[in-house]
Amino acid sequence: MVKSINLKEYLCAKNCLKIICGANNENFVEIEKLVALYSMAGCRFFDINASIEALNAAIRGLKYSNCFDDEHFICLSIGVDYDIHFKKCKINNEICTKCEICKNSCPQNAINNFEIDEKKCIGCSICIEKCHCGAIESYQVKKNITQLKDLFSLVDCVELHISTDDINEIKLKWSELISNYDGLISICMNRAIFSEDFTIKLFNELIQSYSNIMIQADGKPMSGINNDYNTTLQAVAFADILRKSNITCPIFVSGGTNSKTKELLKLCSVDVNGISFGSCARKIVKKYIDREDFFENKQMFNEAYIVAKDFVDMCK
Ligand code: SF4
Ligand code: SF4
Repeated sequence: MVKSINLKEYLCAKNCLKIICGANNENFVEIEKLVALYSMAGCRFFDINASIEALNAAIRGLKYSNCFDDEHFICLSIGVDYDIHFKKCKINNEICTKCEICKNSCPQNAINNFEIDEKKCIGCSICIEKCHCGAIESYQVKKNITQLKDLFSLVDCVELHISTDDINEIKLKWSELISNYDGLISICMNRAIFSEDFTIKLFNELIQSYSNIMIQADGKPMSGINNDYNTTLQAVAFADILRKSNITCPIFVSGGTNSKTKELLKLCSVDVNGISFGSCARKIVKKYIDREDFFENKQMFNEAYIVAKDFVDMCK
């Protein structure tokens, strides 16, 4: 399944689209459905949780749509410790007043009976913001890069999420990653953490030790729920900063990306290789994905396909 030369060729085409199933999403049924639907709709690049279960789910999805071939690519997401993408939440039932506000606002339907399903939770923190009494707290999920070495050899790309200003932790994880993986690495940098100068300096330091990379300019992580220009502004601005530096590798945008992103990139004359869609892409097909008869109900699947295809065609 290693075909990184093809992936690089794809990235150079400059109208790439990546669907983010959720770096911390362990709802493997959802991953299979998202990959099946969006690959059928024309997307060729998928970003998933770094686990064999998630990879198998993505492969099942690609097989369902007859897209398990050399022209479709899978990326595994990992993170430095304390990265925002690798949190999950839990409810303290001694404080919870059973109002159900969190349940109704969770984009992953992860909350039931005042418990959070760890597999479904992606750590977006919406429930924490909504809870009026501070009954929800987050905790970090950590993975050992060395133990993932065999899994890395099965995919086309590994993405390292960097959202900490702990430079020692960044260098430690980077060193572990390049010691255990020799394919394409996507560096996902969080705009909120670093200054412009520091971002470029850090990136140039990393690339000196390993050159087979792309960069994902993460404007505001996991914020693409609203479909407006302001939501996508930080991602576009961050890509502009990187593009105007001496960085020459492929650049993707993420974090607040939505159906307005391509237009805003064009209006601002920001030239990127691709757009990664997470929250927004999942939200528009959620009512179909959540159905248990997703694969069996052909009429409903076709409706979902039309929604996904319109989105992919608009965003390419
Ligand atoms: S929003 Fe807070 S108080 Fe309400 S059900 Fe959720 S955890 Fe409990
Ligand atoms: S709202 Fe976000 S953080 Fe809270 S349970 Fe749902 S997915 Fe997890």
